[in-house]
Amino acid sequence: MMAVSRPLIENYFVGALQMRCSVVTDTVSGDTIIIDGGAEPERLIAWIENWQGRGPDWSTGPSFADYSNGDLPKRKVVALVNTHAHFDHSGHIPDLLKNYNVKWYLHEDDYFLQTLAQRSGQRWGFDVPPPAIADEKLIAGSVMSFGTIDLEILHTPGHTLGGCCLRLFVDEESDHLFVGDTLFAGSVGRTDLPDTGGDFDLLSKSIHDKLWPLDDEIIVHPGHGPLTTIGEEKMNNPFVGLSAKKDVFSRGKYL
Ligand SMILES: [Zn+2]
Ligand SMILES: [Zn+2]
Repeated sequence: MMAVSRPLIENYFVGALQMRCSVVTDTVSGDTIIIDGGAEPERLIAWIENWQGRGPDWSTGPSFADYSNGDLPKRKVVALVNTHAHFDHSGHIPDLLKNYNVKWYLHEDDYFLQTLAQRSGQRWGFDVPPPAIADEKLIAGSVMSFGTIDLEILHTPGHTLGGCCLRLFVDEESDHLFVGDTLFAGSVGRTDLPDTGGDFDLLSKSIHDKLWPLDDEIIVHPGHGPLTTIGEEKMNNPFVGLSAKKDVFSRGKYL
């Protein structure tokens, strides 16, 4: 397993549902992955390739200047990876695949849900292209390499059957965990959506078994809303935190 020493992590809130797309670059090799490329593909591509347009809403360094002075390698997108298959997270994967000749990774328990991406998008009034079909499976419990970027795949079903959290190991700094809609700052993902396999008890078990044993300092990147940490949510999350009162809350938010 390889830890990245200087990751550039860009957060883009895309689409009407303001879903967090995370673009992660190893600034040593230039290898880049797009996590949950669900909407606004032109915006993502323009910034990743040419530093043009609106760019991310928030990012860790280094900046465009660091790249343009030639000290850093050109960025190269090597894979698309998804936490889960809800249309706000996966609806515009086909447009990204048209631009990047790379593979798209999704847990296989969300393959059926993915076939519904266009239909569920339309139900919410969104124009979404015919759904992409994943090229590769995310393998639960393994560390997978995407170019020089390694991610540990934690399968955390409950919001969807195939929902996964993706851990990026960082040298000498806190690791980052991309959790999709499994966990939010102060909430959890909805478990009442149709055709999804949502189950609050299962979601709670996933979080208790797979996330709470992780280091408190790990920075959590949810699919919607602000960043948080494992320690903060483990202490204070009213749905699944260690002091949460059982049966007070049993339904989260966001798609
Ligand atoms: Zn979502
Ligand atoms: Zn979702």
